[in-house]
Amino acid sequence: MKSSNISEVLNDALEHGRKYISEGNIATYIPELSKVDKNFLGVSIVTTDGKEYHAGDWQQEFTMQSISKTISLIFALEHIGADVIFTKVGMEPSGDPFNSIVKLETKSAMPSNPLINAGAIAVAGLIADRYEFEEFLRFVRLVCGRDTIVVDENVYNSENGAGKLNRSIAYLLQSNGVLEADVEKALSFYFKMCSLNINTFDLANYAAILANGGKDVRSGIQLINKPVLQIVKSLMVTCGLYDGSGEFAIRVGMPAKSGVGGGILALAQNNMGICVFGPALDVHGNSTGGYQILEYLSKELDLHYFS
Ligand code: GLN
Repeated sequence: MKSSNISEVLNDALEHGRKYISEGNIATYIPELSKVDKNFLGVSIVTTDGKEYHAGDWQQEFTMQSISKTISLIFALEHIGADVIFTKVGMEPSGDPFNSIVKLETKSAMPSNPLINAGAIAVAGLIADRYEFEEFLRFVRLVCGRDTIVVDENVYNSENGAGKLNRSIAYLLQSNGVLEADVEKALSFYFKMCSLNINTFDLANYAAILANGGKDVRSGIQLINKPVLQIVKSLMVTCGLYDGSGEFAIRVGMPAKSGVGGGILALAQNNMGICVFGPALDVHGNSTGGYQILEYLSKELDLHYFS
């Protein structure tokens, strides 16, 4: 693929995505997020041979939100192990909204998967009981390629203050014997990882590592092991966009993970990492403009995993 072609397609994709901003709404259940300008739209690509492309508001910082669930899962799989993790959380799509509590009572004491809130809180508890947040933050900085990434304290305080549903989930997990950590300790870790401030370039760097068999695309250093990648990318395919994952698989066809901050991270295997940002969200909590950009790129650059 010629570089000029990717740049051109990226600009066209951005303009295409812009038409869908008006269909979405900002997340307001976290008060601090409701202050964000709905019209931001940006995208970055980092290829596995180390080239980068950007368009729109790619330098605008936003909070990682649920995209961080993939990094905490990788950290937990690498440091604690799949055998422990999957005694606390399942591997199946839930088909429910990301913050649903219902199946914890009606189906299984264990969350369906690590990418819904319940699953990510369970994983956060396992990590928080063994590691300081700073250790996790070092790993986030490493995979994103920027050592100035920090927690947005305003979003963190806002999430913590408005976190009644997540608190209910955590207490139910504790009462089910799934969450062994102290509830506030697990939630503090969880809210902090969701409140990490990043831009699309940071997450495209991370996505490129996922696309590149776990190796940093510039240094060639193996940062994530292959068995861990297989688990995380498979879960991104089946659960990455919550109850919108099936349609996304058909229309876009890339392992991906969204967050209510407006980011969606996606990757084309052995080819490129992509991150889009547009804070106007659809009913599932996925960026409307970002989704359209990814669908456009998938078609124009032939990125669908079954193309
Ligand atoms: N921090 C958010 C929450 O717990 C993350 C949800 C999301 O990005 N979908 O509700």
